[in-house]
Amino acid sequence: MDTTSFTRKTIGAETVEPALTPPPMGGLQASFAKKPKIGLAKAKSKKRDIPEGIWTKCEKCETMIFDKELDENLKVCPKCEYHFQIGARERIHSLVETCTFEEMDADMTSVDPLKFVDKIPYPVRVQQHQKATLLKDAVLTGLCKIGPHRAALGVMDFSFIAASLGSVVGEKLTRLIERATEKELPLIVISASGGARMQEGAFSLMQMAKTSAALAYHAQRRLPFISVLTDPTTGGVTASFASLGDLILAEPGAMIGFAGPRVIKDTMKADLPPGFQTAEFLLDHGLIDSIVPRKEMKARLIGYLDYLTAAKKAVA
Ligand SMILES: [Zn+2]
Repeated sequence: MDTTSFTRKTIGAETVEPALTPPPMGGLQASFAKKPKIGLAKAKSKKRDIPEGIWTKCEKCETMIFDKELDENLKVCPKCEYHFQIGARERIHSLVETCTFEEMDADMTSVDPLKFVDKIPYPVRVQQHQKATLLKDAVLTGLCKIGPHRAALGVMDFSFIAASLGSVVGEKLTRLIERATEKELPLIVISASGGARMQEGAFSLMQMAKTSAALAYHAQRRLPFISVLTDPTTGGVTASFASLGDLILAEPGAMIGFAGPRVIKDTMKADLPPGFQTAEFLLDHGLIDSIVPRKEMKARLIGYLDYLTAAKKAVA
């Protein structure tokens, strides 16, 4: 428990204090309340020489990594190769040739067809995420150049409402796929998602059929689609376009599934095998074609595109 209070204190938030301190109830309670304060003071003085906000703790090996080093390493732990989540813009930057990404439908934003209110009204939630992520919704789409190849690229960003599949994500991806079909371009979609966007109800579910239908037309033209699954890819995204790739790749350790393990366990009334729903497990069971570390992704995509577009080029 010491570690928790220690880390929280370094954020410098006075507001954390009440959560750690038991409510004053007099007698024993009050004297107990004083104790953690001594610990906190010690921790604070120890930590003082380490600047805040420039280290990140690896979620797997718990190594403290210098943020600059982590960024330079494409958000992969240099010690244990744990793949942190990465934003859509950083991902695009790591894959495409400089200044070649022409974004499509950059201003498309969600409406609130159901007037949905969860803890807060849906439009407020969208606005909060737009402000925090500087994205309009959970996917960026556009045409770009990867190595020598022109390609259509869609990248989802988990930090925007868990990259849930709403009408904007579905529509932007569908338009991207249709543009790829029209221009005879290969398509790459990098997925991450917590599933359908509940706040849009059935409108979200329709996106599964819409994107899948657009992909069918793309496939009819014998154009390649490479689907890349990142941590985590679940729900309606796994159940639609993310599983329809001619090649399905995944990042190491990515959690990939439809329903969450707890739901499956409760339904099946059985223990799940170890490593269930990880990229490695799915590779062993034939659901995906390859696991590609983030740092090799660009080179591997170029290699696959060389191979998949060679026949088309030969005909031309
Ligand atoms: Zn690590």
